[in-house]
Amino acid sequence: MDFLISNALVFDGSGAAPRPDCDVAVSGGRITAVGKNLPRETGVETIDAEGLALMPGIIDSHTHYDAQVTWDPTLDPSPSHGVTTVIMGNCGFSIAPCHPGDRDLTMRNLTQVEGMSLEALRAGIVWDFESFADYLDAIERQGVVPNVAAFVGHSALRTYVMKQAAVERAATPDELDAMCGIVTDAMAAGAIGFATSTAPQHNGAGGVPMPSRLADDTELEELVRAMGAGGQGVFMLTKGDRTDVPYLEDLAAKSGRPFVIAALLHNPTNPDGTFADLRAINEARRRGRELWGQVSCCPLTMDFTMQSAYPLESLTAWQPAMKLAGADLNALKALYGDMEFRAAVRAELETPAGVRLFNGEWDKIAVTQAARPENQPLEHRTIADLASEAGADPLDWMLNFAVAENLETVFTAVLLNSDEDAVGRMITDPNASVALSDAGAHLTFFCDAGFGLHLIGHWARRLQVLTLEQAVHELTAKPADIFGIPDRGRIGPGQWADLMLFDANTVGRGAKRRQFDLPAGAPRLVTDAVGVVGVWINGERVVDANGAIDRAIDGTIDGTIDGTGRPGHVLREFNA
Ligand SMILES: [Zn+2]
Repeated sequence: MDFLISNALVFDGSGAAPRPDCDVAVSGGRITAVGKNLPRETGVETIDAEGLALMPGIIDSHTHYDAQVTWDPTLDPSPSHGVTTVIMGNCGFSIAPCHPGDRDLTMRNLTQVEGMSLEALRAGIVWDFESFADYLDAIERQGVVPNVAAFVGHSALRTYVMKQAAVERAATPDELDAMCGIVTDAMAAGAIGFATSTAPQHNGAGGVPMPSRLADDTELEELVRAMGAGGQGVFMLTKGDRTDVPYLEDLAAKSGRPFVIAALLHNPTNPDGTFADLRAINEARRRGRELWGQVSCCPLTMDFTMQSAYPLESLTAWQPAMKLAGADLNALKALYGDMEFRAAVRAELETPAGVRLFNGEWDKIAVTQAARPENQPLEHRTIADLASEAGADPLDWMLNFAVAENLETVFTAVLLNSDEDAVGRMITDPNASVALSDAGAHLTFFCDAGFGLHLIGHWARRLQVLTLEQAVHELTAKPADIFGIPDRGRIGPGQWADLMLFDANTVGRGAKRRQFDLPAGAPRLVTDAVGVVGVWINGERVVDANGAIDRAIDGTIDGTIDGTGRPGHVLREFNA
């Protein structure tokens, strides 16, 4: 035995009621026994968990750590929030495969959707791979703190085969053949599935659509077929207007594979939209198709400046601003002053749309941080409020104010998923899977890496929308089953020892704060965990009551199973 955790309140991940005063024994990275009063062995460490709860480590199925993993094997801050396994490559935004000549193109595509500066990506990404198989090998050589599984991503695939044309047109039959071959190879190398996006807010630098958005129906169908040909793989998609649930049901019927559909968020301007999707998913499931809707338990709060105004970027009229974002500040300021530009934006906002991040809810955007000291009294007031006080149109007010502050004002938008009644119904829907942390992306807009702690602390303990055991199941065994991840997500003999020890009375996530620790000193938002006392990955403790443990980060743990000094595994084999 390597160690024993004693007297914990054990949530085993199954959704069953917890077992009080329970011991868990770990040896060789795996759980060997679970029960009351397990025999103590002399010389073996016993961790007294009296008054604490123990659950399987959280599986975060919707992350974007594809770039960060190459310079930060910790995948900070996820492990501190109890996450022991991450799935990357969601929405198809992976960085493999990538030709050495296309690296800049790939990074430029990512900068906008990841909310990370191009300088950070250029300074940070370690490019010691070309194929998807090389990429997994490179991560394995480097070692990683949490376990990692990766989708092969549609946008990377398209760029690899089509170069610049990937963002311009549909694929030719030859190009499609080449893409299918790469999907087949990636599945053989250990991809967890194939991921894509058709969502209108997914744009690369300069407002160019992400490559996957240019795919036609044949391309999507053939790539999903190539993924599933070996009887393996989950298809993941962030959907847009064209790829509605009936279309996806049809595709699922053809491929016979499970589908995970993102991003189902509650939109107050289309309050039944997500529920209609969940009902359609339910009907498809009754017809035997394994469809899941990915939902979020976090309000979608975004911090942004008018240098890169993500909430407005799904507007066609915002295209000219996206072209200038990050390139020419003065030209951008001039554009914001242009009355024709404003009129076009205003006209589009007045036209109803199915999938759009921002629909003119000016009461949901506030000034968070003014650039000029004299404007600080305006902080934490909404644009609707400030504009009406000034007798101005809200768009005019915001653009004038931002320009006067040299586009340095930080605004916060709370656009989606803030109606707790609706979100409570979504996260308890049997056709939904709670995920969408987007950890590793949107780094300047928000940080939901602690989504699991929020589900447990806010939704289970505080609001009691679900029980604690249901919340634990939602974060552990359920995603393990959806994605076919073997021997994880449960506490039981033979399972890998991925564990989180926590105080059920206080667990949650702390306030967000800005930190300048990305490559090239670029900023990101992070949050701290509350009430997490211990996290183990494959039997190695990586977090204690003081936070992350240095040796887990440094890669100096003795005798890790893969010899890298870091405890995580690159997951390559999945249940069919
Ligand atoms: Zn995503």
